[in-house]
Amino acid sequence: MIGITATVPLEIVLAAGRTPVDLNNLFITSGSSRELVAQAESAGFSHNICAWIKGIYSTVINHGIREVIAVTGGDCSNTIALGEILEQKGVRVIPFEYPLDRNRETLQNQMEILRVKLGATWPEIENMGVRLESIRKKLKQLDQLTYGKNVVTGSENHRFLVNSSDFNGNPDLFESELDEFLAGVRKRTPRSNEIRLGYLGVPPIFTQFYECIESLGARVVFNEVQRQFSMPFGQKDIVEQYLQYTYPYHMSARLKDIKDAINERQLDGLIHYTQTFCYRQIYDILLREDTTIPLLTLEGDRPGFIDGRTVLRIETFVEMLQAGKGELF
Ligand code: SF4
Repeated sequence: MIGITATVPLEIVLAAGRTPVDLNNLFITSGSSRELVAQAESAGFSHNICAWIKGIYSTVINHGIREVIAVTGGDCSNTIALGEILEQKGVRVIPFEYPLDRNRETLQNQMEILRVKLGATWPEIENMGVRLESIRKKLKQLDQLTYGKNVVTGSENHRFLVNSSDFNGNPDLFESELDEFLAGVRKRTPRSNEIRLGYLGVPPIFTQFYECIESLGARVVFNEVQRQFSMPFGQKDIVEQYLQYTYPYHMSARLKDIKDAINERQLDGLIHYTQTFCYRQIYDILLREDTTIPLLTLEGDRPGFIDGRTVLRIETFVEMLQAGKGELF
């Protein structure tokens, strides 16, 4: 088992015979995520450090994970210090950096370093790329069934796409669950007359977030970053695939992706989720300047059920969008 702090070239990890575990997913689905945050605070992490970092720390310790790939470039600067603390606890930490300038040669060098450290060959990696591409295509179908056929909920879309960061450590099992899901949803009656929302930013730390939105007559039909995890680019070249991934690089590629989604998916509004104490909150400025449809910014701090104030803000936002479409009055 090898922990990953963010999306990394999974083809290399799997080709090396390791079982990748996205530490974010393990933390947030643990059933004790609040306790994990408290545990990290007891170990000395201050209040004003993002809850995801604290959750990852405790998850590594509690699961006895001995090896972690820490994304120290293109994701989160907190991961640099987190990696050093984990090293002090005896964990083997392998840093991986996405180059901010999206330079192909630099990324290729980073992938080569990872390949050597994990002990995979390029032919094995390319074979794994072909294997994963067949699952990525099915995830693209699931996404199209969400916004095109309107038979997949925002929560279901989120669940499958967010889990594609590690394919739950078992691509074969992941694919069979996906196949079963796709076979079932095709028989569903399409949803209609809903407010169509795009969800931007890191995955929500709240529980019942998507369910709350759907109870208000809206549905998320675009999960921006989760969709990026699934890499729906159809690339044959693995380096190119990780260059197309928008999340670790300059904001301009994310903005283009979002604008394309607004048009293609006929979005009525956007929700930008920000994490308390996260530098990515600053991107809200660019999102507001560059997008043309209404945008609601939310902030989440600790894991747990979505709070009443946030629910009220979403409700007001959805009502405003309904009124704009002539559906409320
Ligand atoms: S939410 Fe922000 S601060 Fe927290 S781990 Fe992710 S990038 Fe880092």
